[in-house]
Amino acid sequence: MIYCVEDERNIRELIVYTLESSGFHAKGLESGQELMQEMEKELPDLVLLDIMLPGEDGLEILSRLKASEVTREIPVIMVTAKGAEYDKVMGLDYGADDYITKPFGMMEFIARVRAVLRRAGKEDREQDVLQIGDLQVQIKQHQVLIGDRKITLTLKEFELLKYLMENQGIVMSRDRLLGHVWGYDFDGETRTVDVHIRTLRQKLGSYGDMIETVRGVGYRIGG
Ligand code: CA
Repeated sequence: MIYCVEDERNIRELIVYTLESSGFHAKGLESGQELMQEMEKELPDLVLLDIMLPGEDGLEILSRLKASEVTREIPVIMVTAKGAEYDKVMGLDYGADDYITKPFGMMEFIARVRAVLRRAGKEDREQDVLQIGDLQVQIKQHQVLIGDRKITLTLKEFELLKYLMENQGIVMSRDRLLGHVWGYDFDGETRTVDVHIRTLRQKLGSYGDMIETVRGVGYRIGG
């Protein structure tokens, strides 16, 4: 569960929508007070905290979270329209894990969220399902769905798709894909990656187009 504290409704809804369409559970909250109420019910894996809030501001909320033993370990990403270095330093001094300035690209945003969760060791719990549009990778079940339709993949195709989706929006080199999916001691050629991407695209049908070839580098999904 990710809590997003943001007083501007449009931004709050956009962030929650973006998180949910990437397979996270997220809840939008308007104030520090609402955040504290939700904390009583469920502790989140991550808090996204706007700095400019009416009443208690984001930095005050952050220091409150960091002052309590119960909430101290919850990672926090500060989200703000204020790009001033001063805010950035303040946020990080108070113990924020990262800082993102509005307006931001959604792909970058999701990549930052994943990076913070990964560092906090919470990624596994959050990442049972990876999703782009109707394309869904269910990690525990080892299953890929497009809408209701089940797609049968080989183990390597599955691992390849999973890795690309975990790094959504980021160009992955053939060497990196080869290393991750086949193992760094694998003695094959990078062409192996191309062959598997080709069969993966075929099996995904119209969704195969989402895997983009980045010439001379490698592949990217959801770029
Ligand atoms: Ca605000």
